[in-house]
Amino acid sequence: MSENKIPYKIYLEEDEMPKAWYNVRADMKNKPAPLLNPGTHQPMTAEELEGVFCADLVAQELDNDNAYIEIPQEIRDFYKMYRPSPLVRAYCLEEKLQTPAKIYYKFEGNNTSGSHKLNSAIAQAYYAKKQGLKGVTTETGAGQWGTALSMACSYLGLDCKVFMVKVSYEQKPFRREVMRTYGASVTPSPSMDTEIGKKINAEHPGTSGSLGCAISEAVEVAVKNPGYRYVLGSVLNQVLLHQSVIGLETKAALDKYGIKPDMIIGCAGGGSNLGGLISPFMGEKLRGEADYEFIAVEPASCPSFTRGVFAYDFADTGMVCPLAKMYTLGSDFIPSANHAGGLRYHGMSPILSQLYDDGLMKAVSVEQTKVFEAAEQFARVEGILPAPESSHAIRVAIDEALKCKETGEEKTIVFGLTGTGYFDMVAYEKFHNGEMEDYIPTDEELAKYAAKLPKID
Ligand SMILES: *Cc1c(COP(=O)(O)O)cnc(C)c1O
Repeated sequence: MSENKIPYKIYLEEDEMPKAWYNVRADMKNKPAPLLNPGTHQPMTAEELEGVFCADLVAQELDNDNAYIEIPQEIRDFYKMYRPSPLVRAYCLEEKLQTPAKIYYKFEGNNTSGSHKLNSAIAQAYYAKKQGLKGVTTETGAGQWGTALSMACSYLGLDCKVFMVKVSYEQKPFRREVMRTYGASVTPSPSMDTEIGKKINAEHPGTSGSLGCAISEAVEVAVKNPGYRYVLGSVLNQVLLHQSVIGLETKAALDKYGIKPDMIIGCAGGGSNLGGLISPFMGEKLRGEADYEFIAVEPASCPSFTRGVFAYDFADTGMVCPLAKMYTLGSDFIPSANHAGGLRYHGMSPILSQLYDDGLMKAVSVEQTKVFEAAEQFARVEGILPAPESSHAIRVAIDEALKCKETGEEKTIVFGLTGTGYFDMVAYEKFHNGEMEDYIPTDEELAKYAAKLPKID
């Protein structure tokens, strides 16, 4: 059979790696809505944004026109340490499922941070360094972003202050220690180091924290300390831009063998890996050159796309960040303790939100026990122990492959395998012990949070 010519892993040569990021906004007819000043509700100017973010990153954030933005040589050199990431043909999974579908996954877990987040962390740290800053502040939930940023900052000699959601700080001591190994300072959030932290601690004594609260703390520290800026690991346009390296490599690898995917699937927390993976393919779809089916997969416990509203909302609990128009559950929404920590954000990338609203991509939500069933099935045949976040994409890839088995269709399915799950063994333990629960918020609960969305006209 000719398809046996396709190797298990398709790698790219160093000189085949992308030299520019692709900015899908350039090809979008309906651009993502601008960020608004939380006080005046006017579009944020570059100058206002530069108080919080690095100047070059602000330029990228606001750039809706340039399709390609050169990747600086220093970043390309850093990428070479762990990229290209392999595009794997899941022969073993196909065999196990007895499906005629052809399944590929792009594996981003081959670096110490264990996820795709390093692709943007190094870019953001690079521009901070270039601007002559002393350091950066950020938040981390599950810990992958904080780890990636710590690695990037230590490589460039920048200080890195991480506010880690208190529950993760206590439950994931190993993640915390990896960050400290790379020289970052890690503070449990809400802390008593910031005005916002003090306020939240006073209002909610004993709170275990949330991502929205940690963001507010990190922004406050960045704004108050000269030589510091705030950086964010997902949601923003600039992050999707950096993550386009995933999609560009995937496309180059597929093109090498003349493979055209029918369907591209990715998990969606803030939308950065999915946005990065689909960007070059979405560009073709937007330009009318090709058609693909794109599927975002989110947890049923935090269903921003499938049950949220498309509206301006706060990015953080303290309401200090700009307002973003996105699919959101409301900034006060605190998802139940589901185990895919990286998918618990209340909002979604404004770029993906616009594409979804325009009917250019689909979204589905899945329950976590079903996700872990898929994770285990995948680990047993493909060898890689997947992150719970990534396993949302595995779940839907398997479901789609099983549909092909019924219909006999030989679809080509590509999915993003964003990372490894070594720090998530408590979640796997709960699953194995039959103690994992599927929490699905009620309509009443979601309506309560949606009613609190800011009124913008
Ligand atoms: C952070 C994270 C995600 C979700 O973030 P996106 O911005 O939606 O990509 C998914 N998988 C892993 C492994 C992560 O660390």
